[in-house]
Amino acid sequence: MKSSPSLGVMLWRGLFRRCPHCGDRRAFFAKWFVRRERCAGCGLRWERNYEGFMLGAMAISFITTGGSLLLTMAIGVIASYPDVVLWPVLGSTVAVTLLVGVFGYPISYTLWQAVDLHLRPVAEDDGEDHGRAVVN
Ligand SMILES: [Zn+2]
Repeated sequence: MKSSPSLGVMLWRGLFRRCPHCGDRRAFFAKWFVRRERCAGCGLRWERNYEGFMLGAMAISFITTGGSLLLTMAIGVIASYPDVVLWPVLGSTVAVTLLVGVFGYPISYTLWQAVDLHLRPVAEDDGEDHGRAVVN
């Protein structure tokens, strides 16, 4: 069975919502928010029989959303210092947070998948190369 690329390559692929393992653009999503059970490219299973997978993805989502919130607020405050324009800064912070939180949702999954694949390399029962023919 083919092993995964380096963590850097997998994170890069995850950042663009691609499958960290094979780099397939369709990866785990049928549409932006609609996920598949397996990667369309390599057949890798979504959660790989791991109960805590969703929790890790939520943590990534929380970090990226919170990070962009702080960054936007900091840029707004620094750009308009010392006369901080409260409402435009608050408005853009809320907008960026919603944008990252909502549209970054699938990306948090592929990013976490990259970390997860690095920590737990692909195993026989992860479904790689078996496609949809496998029935449990
Ligand atoms: Zn794949």
